This record gives sequence, structure tokens and C-alpha cells, in this order.
Amino acid sequence: MRYISTRGQAPARDFEDVLLAGLAEDGGLFLPETWPVLSAGEWRALRGLPYAELSARLMALFTGPGIPEAELLRMTRAAYGGFGHAATAPLVQIEPNLFSLELFHGPTLAFKDMAMQLLGLLFDHVLEKRGERITIVAATSGDTGSAAIEACRDRAAIDMVVLHPEGRTSEVQRRQMTTVLSSNIHNIAVQGSFDDCQDLVKAMFGDVPFRQEMRLSAVNSINWARIAAQVPYYAYAALALGAPDRPVAFSVPTGNFGNVLAAWVARRMGLPVETLIVGANRNDILARFLVSNDMSMLPVEPSLSPSMDIQVSSNFERLLFELLGRDPVATADIMTRFRAEGRMPVPDAAWKQATTLFAGFTLSDEGTLEEIRRLYAESAYLADPHTAIGTAAARALRPQDCSIPVVVAATAHPAKFPDAVEQATGFRPPLPARLADLYQREERFAVMPGALADIEAAVRAHARRNAA
Ligand SMILES: *Cc1c(COP(=O)(O)O)cnc(C)c1O
Repeated sequence: MRYISTRGQAPARDFEDVLLAGLAEDGGLFLPETWPVLSAGEWRALRGLPYAELSARLMALFTGPGIPEAELLRMTRAAYGGFGHAATAPLVQIEPNLFSLELFHGPTLAFKDMAMQLLGLLFDHVLEKRGERITIVAATSGDTGSAAIEACRDRAAIDMVVLHPEGRTSEVQRRQMTTVLSSNIHNIAVQGSFDDCQDLVKAMFGDVPFRQEMRLSAVNSINWARIAAQVPYYAYAALALGAPDRPVAFSVPTGNFGNVLAAWVARRMGLPVETLIVGANRNDILARFLVSNDMSMLPVEPSLSPSMDIQVSSNFERLLFELLGRDPVATADIMTRFRAEGRMPVPDAAWKQATTLFAGFTLSDEGTLEEIRRLYAESAYLADPHTAIGTAAARALRPQDCSIPVVVAATAHPAKFPDAVEQATGFRPPLPARLADLYQREERFAVMPGALADIEAAVRAHARRNAA
């Protein structure tokens, strides 16, 4: 399997290079040169497999022969074995023909664990094979940092330094990062904002001698391996509901467009996905695009679903490339104009084509609380604010043929956002037993002012590089 860049100016690469590189050299995103497509018979043969086995079978189509399927199976079993639910991603019915695909049973209680847990193992495997080490630096406002730390802790070939803004994450979020005492994980509380943290990471990547010396790497949401690792759960749900012999629809609460893109990939691989519903909070650039071809950036406003408080959905470039008939010149041109002008000039024909499959939906904070309340009252189902946007979107935009089941991607555990859930239901969801002692665990982190030289010195002190 070879991968090409959406901007057409980078050489084709194999899976392992794409995993380690993240972004292509021309600023584009990697996609498979050709999509693997399974026949109806091949999909049927995957029905009923345990999650780790299904994941290994489908990941093998993306990794190619470089990583044997037996090796992948060892990794998927290790990645998902520690989840808090034996089904890994259970499918729970909440209404007639409406289902919640619970993607939040991993260590940090959010769907990012589904991909990150496997990514940490893939990184380690490829690096060990090559006799290389890397230093991952990341800035976080809370969620991504904890998922990345849980994925990389104790990995032999990885050192990790995570910057968070001091005092500006929730206590649960900080503790999920700072109570990981593994020797390869280092947390720094920067005396500044999240933007300061992000600028420091950018500056470290921009310091080319430093970047090369430390072998800096990133695990951000544009990494193709993260998208690939999200495809199996859409297949898992669709197969459980009768695919390939019965169509399904998905409703996905969306920020960076990574999660819903994986559903699109599952469809591209031959699963009968009828509709993809994109749910947004007030930061609804994607929903505005789908409703009226208006992809214009507005300032980010905080909401009850903070993991979707995003204005630039970086993974959208991959869909754009496909909508434009895989034309890299047109893709690069539109992306450059988007950066310069703050508005993405998507040709009308491409937009119309997108709307034949995708539908966009926006929900306010009040609507979100009302939906949490309703789900709890009518189905005794406790949803977090992100998931509630997905269920509300599903009910508003479900396919005309109401025999088609709609599956909502449930992206966070309700206990991860207890304040909103309590506000809606009067009930504060408890943390799962495996995290119940989070507030008693020992924390370890450094506090530093935001001077680049000091942060680089700290990274240098922690990175073992290849000299170790
Ligand atoms: C990251 C995240 C999202 C958004 O996912 P994208 O892949 O960025 O669209 C939604 N909900 C939760 C809880 C998240 O952590």
C-alpha cells in the first residue's frame, strides 16, 4: 500500500513512513493511492469477529506487508485489552433504530483512545524495527494530551514531553496527564495560555537543528494511521446491524473531521453507508458548509462540548481532494486561498456532491442540555455533551427511510463532563472504578515560564534519542 499527498508535490510513501511523518513535505495530507474495496462476501466473512480481530484484519489492508497481520493482531489485542468494556466499542440501543456506539471505554474516557492506543504500539514497533527513537512533543488544552500520554507511556522507543497551560485545564484533565509516572513521560505546566503552549511546540519544530537532534515527532489528528485505526469501529457497528445486506447511517459529533472521515472511508471500502450526519456546536463551520457552502472561519467560542471548539477542520482536506476527483493542484489552490482569505472557495459541483452523502446540524448549549435531559428521561441513557449533539443530529436528520438504523458515535464518557451532565439531569455521573482513585494519585509535573530556551533545555534533558 502506497500513500500520496493531497497536494501532489511529495513522493509516494509506505505506511511506516506515513506513520512517522504525519504531514507530507508539501504540506498536504496522506491518502492511500488506491482504496481497498471488499466485496459483500468478504464483508460478511468479517461478521461476529471480536473487535481486536476485526481491527487487525482491516488495518492489514492499510499497513501492507511491512507489518504482518499476526503482529497487528498482537498489537490490537494489547491496545484494546485494557479497555473498561469486554466488547471494546459496545453498540447500545437507545431508541427504535437509534444506537450509540460507545467509543469511550479506553483509559482517558474519550474516543481518541480508540486510535491512540494502537498508534503508540505501531510507533514502537516501527521504531524498534528501524533501531530508531523519537521524542514526541505536544501542546494540549486537556484531552489530546492525556490520550497521547496513555498511548506512549512505557513505550521503549518514545520519549514524550507534553505542555499544558498551568491552571487552565480541568482538574480531571490535568490529573489524567500528571499522574502517569512512567519514566518516558514528562509534563510541563507552562505559565501561559494554550496558544502559548502551541506556539512553543511550533517554535521547537521550526528550530531545525533542535528538531533533528531530538528527532522530534508529533501524534496529531492529521496522522493517517489515526484515521485508519478508526475505520474498524464503523465496520463493527455496520456489520452488527446487518451490513453489507442492510444499509446504515452514522451521526458523528465533529471537530477536526477525523472521526467522520473514518466513516467515509468505511463506505469507500464497500460498506453500505446511506448518510453521514455531522453534528456541531456553535463553532459550526462544517455544518454551515454542508447547509450553504459557506466554509468561513469565525473566532472560536467556548461551548459545553469543548473538544469540538474548533474552526479549522484539518482533515476536511482529505474529503476535498476526493470531491475534486483527486486533483492535487486544485486542492492545494483552494487550501492556500482558505489560509489567506479565511473562506474556502469550494466549487458548487463539489459541494453538491458532498451534500448527497453528508448532512450538517448545529446545536446550541441549551439544546445540548435539553437533549441530555431527554435521553436520560426517555431512555435512561446518560450521554456526555458531545454525544448528545450526535443523538440530536441523528433525530433531526435521519434518512427518510426510517427502517435504516442510525448509529451515533458516542465520543466521551458522561463522567468526563460531569458538570454539564449534572446541570441537565441533577445527577453527577461517577468515574468508572478503574479511575475512581484519580484524586488520590501522586502527580508529577514541572512548572515553567514560557521561555523557548528553557523548554528546549527541558526536552533535551528528557530525550534519550539514539545515543542512549
Ligand atoms: C476530539 C473529539 C471530538 C471531535 O473529533 P474529530 O475527529 O476532531 O472530529 C468529539 N468529541 C470528543 C469527546 C472528542 O474528544
